[in-house]
Amino acid sequence: MDSNDSSSSKGTLRLALLGNPNTGKTSIFNDLTGLRQRVGNYPGITVEKKMGFFEVESTPIELIDLPGTYSLAASSLDERVVVDMLAGKVPGNPPPEVIVFVADATNLLRNLFLASQVAELCIPMVIALNLMDSATKKGITINVAELSKRLGVPVIPTVATRDEGIDDLRSAVISASKSKPKFNPVDWPEAVNQAVETLSSGIQAGSSATLCPIEMRRLLFDANSAVGEHTHLPEERLKEIQAEARAQLTHAGYNPLAAEALIQYEYLGKLLEGVVHRIGETKHDQSESIDKLMIHRGWGLAIFIGMMFVGFQAVYSWAGPLMDVIDAAKVAVQGWIGPMLESTPTLQSLVNDGIIEGVGAFVIFLPQILILFLFIALLEDTGYMSRAAFLMDKLFHWCGLNGKSFVPMLSSYACAVPGVMATRTIEDPKARLITILLAPLMSCSARLPVYVLLIGAFVEPQYGSFIAGVTLFAMHFVGLAIAIPLSWLFTKFLVKTKAQPFLMEMPPYRVPRLKNVVHRMYEAGFEFVQRAGTVILAFTILIWAALYFPRPEQLVTNTTDSYLAEIQTAQQISEDDALRLIEDPESDESAELDNRIQGAYVNQSYLGRTGQAIQPVFELAGFDWKITVGVLASFPAREVIISTMGVVFSLGGDVDEESGSLRDALRKETWETGTRKEAPVFTLPTVFAIMIFFALCSQCSSTLAVIAKESNWKWAGFVFFYMTSLAWVAAVLTYQIGVALF
Ligand code: GDP
Ligand code: MG
Repeated sequence: MDSNDSSSSKGTLRLALLGNPNTGKTSIFNDLTGLRQRVGNYPGITVEKKMGFFEVESTPIELIDLPGTYSLAASSLDERVVVDMLAGKVPGNPPPEVIVFVADATNLLRNLFLASQVAELCIPMVIALNLMDSATKKGITINVAELSKRLGVPVIPTVATRDEGIDDLRSAVISASKSKPKFNPVDWPEAVNQAVETLSSGIQAGSSATLCPIEMRRLLFDANSAVGEHTHLPEERLKEIQAEARAQLTHAGYNPLAAEALIQYEYLGKLLEGVVHRIGETKHDQSESIDKLMIHRGWGLAIFIGMMFVGFQAVYSWAGPLMDVIDAAKVAVQGWIGPMLESTPTLQSLVNDGIIEGVGAFVIFLPQILILFLFIALLEDTGYMSRAAFLMDKLFHWCGLNGKSFVPMLSSYACAVPGVMATRTIEDPKARLITILLAPLMSCSARLPVYVLLIGAFVEPQYGSFIAGVTLFAMHFVGLAIAIPLSWLFTKFLVKTKAQPFLMEMPPYRVPRLKNVVHRMYEAGFEFVQRAGTVILAFTILIWAALYFPRPEQLVTNTTDSYLAEIQTAQQISEDDALRLIEDPESDESAELDNRIQGAYVNQSYLGRTGQAIQPVFELAGFDWKITVGVLASFPAREVIISTMGVVFSLGGDVDEESGSLRDALRKETWETGTRKEAPVFTLPTVFAIMIFFALCSQCSSTLAVIAKESNWKWAGFVFFYMTSLAWVAAVLTYQIGVALF
């Protein structure tokens, strides 16, 4: 969805929304475009590109919601996108024809700083003076007509949350596209103009690149601006030219790093004189007094833990019944379609166990995703998210994450899929990526059945329920404990993106807006189904095929014959009686035979053979070939391990982790060959090696699909690789140490 989708057709007016974070850009975007939106990424990077469409007086309009920024310093990815877009340097994305600048009416001076930086591009501009209601509450009045006159551009007061002023904004945009009003730029002192001149001639001497005024100013004022790449000059040469230009500024008495802010703020300060009035003393700010409590070391933390508890409960437990409904619906559809395809067993299995199972495999995540995003939207919309991030920042910052990593990590304890999606709230690209890479290590609920089965079968009978409980609890910390040193390593050696300074802005508390909340949920759910759903479906069908084929005819006969012989000797009956037994659909023997056939098919399937072939690799961890096949079959989704083990041990696929027959089968399992022949496979070292393996291994195609979507396939591949190798090493260590000690 990059490159050319935005190069608009003739006659379409291209608008861009620009402004500081939290000024209501997204709200205005939604007001203007409703549901006619599309989300993609900017070419080659992970910054989200949101486009929307609407029409005014039959003029089709395309609107881009640019990332919120405080300045154009182009040191963060977001700022870079904004500069590149405005300068027309994003392939396939011509610069906007009109900028709708969204300014926070309660903080006009700081907001206009960005507007005045942008002014130098001479792109027509309309200012939406948003949050007028909050300004009024704070006793701020703004002479809008005078402001508009002094700035040189139309200023439209709006309250995005109540749709106020949006119609005026629409008409203003249309007339601006014709009259082309420009924001009056600051009159730069001669010294700055000369320095820009030096830069410009220096660049022209060595490169054919043409830079616009905004890019020139960025090169002059910002220490490490990414705009440098636009010059196509060798880094050294560019540094020299920049140093020369900056030296000129210094010589004229300006500190190059502070000059811009000083000059712009002086200009804007004069411009706003007499335009903005505060009535009486500023009213006691409600937000500030709430914050005394919210970011208090003791109380704040208690409130935070309480909120997270509720949120986590919601994702973990409230989603349960909805997931059960989806699961029941899946089974019902299978039960309905299955009989219709009875005559073609391969098609029947493809549809039931491949396609319907695959669709079910991603739809089942929707309740968790929707509930989590409901929670996140509420946290963000009320303004609490920033406070929570502030509280958690110390805990996370030292290892490269930031305060906003907390919610994604916590939700990954329910499921990494919504957890990875929740990293969207993290602005800093570096912290976001590291959070994505580590989230799948958190012990998600799909690991629980494995722990319950093995602890129930091997730990509890020997050591009692207290130790079993402690073991279960401890298993939930294995991934976390490993994530901490890894996070440090990734920060230091792997992720080279520059971390963004954590700008701690505390937006005022606000009542969340239903439209926003619903929109957040819709967006997350829809995108997940659209992008990740297809991948998950494809994986499921692939694994289905690997477990289903080949289907040799004589396998059924062979299995039946040997089972018949077995019954005959065991029960001392004639061949006919034995035959009658297994042909009676009600008999235990007939069910047992079905299970054995199913088991035999799986064990000689492509996946089964692969499992047996690579078993030596897992032997070091104490796994026999049946465990290895189970492990392999669980790569698309770890929760299938239980039913796969059921099939591999010929108990049928309907077993669950509480199932006595499966526990018995595991206890009875012995080595078939080798030095340990006849010895039980499931000893404590093996049991713990399996659990550690499942705790650390990347066995979830849905998570990988979502990681690929939120970053790219390279990182998804990296996660798969590092988690799987880590799991193997840890399982081998566990087993070997276990064997040595006991
Ligand atoms: P963005 O970060 O610029 O995209 O801002 P959002 O559209 O996400 O808005 C940030 C918060 O401000 C949300 O909680 C909105 O509901 C709220 N908000 C947006 N516009 C207004 C407004 O005009 N008045 C009030 N009171 N709240 C607003
Ligand atoms: Mg936004």
